[in-house]
Amino acid sequence: MDNFFMNTYHRLPVTFARGEGVWLTDVEGKKYLDFGSGIAVNCLGHAYPPLVKAIADQAAKLNHVCNYYQSDTALAFAEKLVEACAPAGMKRVFLANSGAEANEGAIKIARKYSLVKHGPGRHRIVSLRGSFHGRTITSLSATGQDVFHKDFGPFTEGFAYIPSGDLEALDKALDPAVTAGFLVEAIQGESGIRPQAAEYIKRAAELCAQRDILLLFDEVQCGVGRTGTFLACEAYGIKPDVVTLAKGLAGGIPVGAVLAGEKAADILQVSDHGSTFGGNPIAAAAGLVVLDTVRGPFLKEIERKGEKIQAMLRDWKNPKIKEVRGRGLMIGADITDEAWPILERGVSTAAAGNPGLLILSAGKNTLRFLPPYIISDAEIETGMEILRRLLG
Ligand SMILES: *Cc1c(COP(=O)(O)O)cnc(C)c1O
Repeated sequence: MDNFFMNTYHRLPVTFARGEGVWLTDVEGKKYLDFGSGIAVNCLGHAYPPLVKAIADQAAKLNHVCNYYQSDTALAFAEKLVEACAPAGMKRVFLANSGAEANEGAIKIARKYSLVKHGPGRHRIVSLRGSFHGRTITSLSATGQDVFHKDFGPFTEGFAYIPSGDLEALDKALDPAVTAGFLVEAIQGESGIRPQAAEYIKRAAELCAQRDILLLFDEVQCGVGRTGTFLACEAYGIKPDVVTLAKGLAGGIPVGAVLAGEKAADILQVSDHGSTFGGNPIAAAAGLVVLDTVRGPFLKEIERKGEKIQAMLRDWKNPKIKEVRGRGLMIGADITDEAWPILERGVSTAAAGNPGLLILSAGKNTLRFLPPYIISDAEIETGMEILRRLLG
């Protein structure tokens, strides 16, 4: 198998055969509790019955129409999604297939908005050091981490990075003569689960509004209820101009979305943008199940379960755990050692009657918790007990 795939991933030596709820089973029958949800994707766990049914029913009826035509399922999904994002001021959506593709759409919206309203030369997108926005050349250009940049230049022009939390740098970088947009993750995921400070986001929103710079929230990882509100930006009490979503949005089926509020909802016009698979009816059917589930009291439970995990991590008083951060079921725990051996041991120690644990890392020394929202209290306790053993 290793001879056929390109060498892009450091894969652990486990092959999964099936999943149910928060549990995965490998081809040898060993079980693993899933604290990672395939990087925040399987938000309703594995083989969630309503999701399975919606996908199967849709596949039996219609699995693709191109965007020259209409699909009731895609339309219903778009309507519900805009409704779910209405507290953040969202008005319209463009459907895509991945986080990177969604962010490309957000960048295009910011650039065209600026061009139409203010003329040429005002195309800079400012983002943060430590950010992650995707792997295409332009979403990499927006990603403020040098490690991802080596070997792939030249990059798309017109990007600048500033350190998170630095108000002076923010004020300077958001120069209205040259800047179209400010792109930010409410909680930086890949670089270590780092929530933005409330004052920082509030100031950014103010400056963007004053200077007519679009505020673009990349909620590809932290959105769709992950932090206990449908969008993570709701917690700051601000309204971004554009929000991107992907990972958990269809509970395991590829999908991406770019949403825009009042200012930018009508910027993209016919033939400005497109995507062959965008709004695919199977993804839309799956997305509808996620939207019908991740709302109301279900969101409160995400918050409560996250607090439970954070409290347990703190109560252990394990000297190997240095700091715990995050919100809802998006939690990072900095450990004194490199995180990767824990990930490996979570897999290698699995045996019959002794389940393994799938947990992720972020940055070098951060354990990243992104369990499915449907995890029970008992399953949290089981997973944490395994983790406690793995940490030693
Ligand atoms: C994962 C991620 C992306 C990229 O999403 P893909 O679907 O892998 O293209 C972009 N932004 C953030 C914040 C992410 O976590």
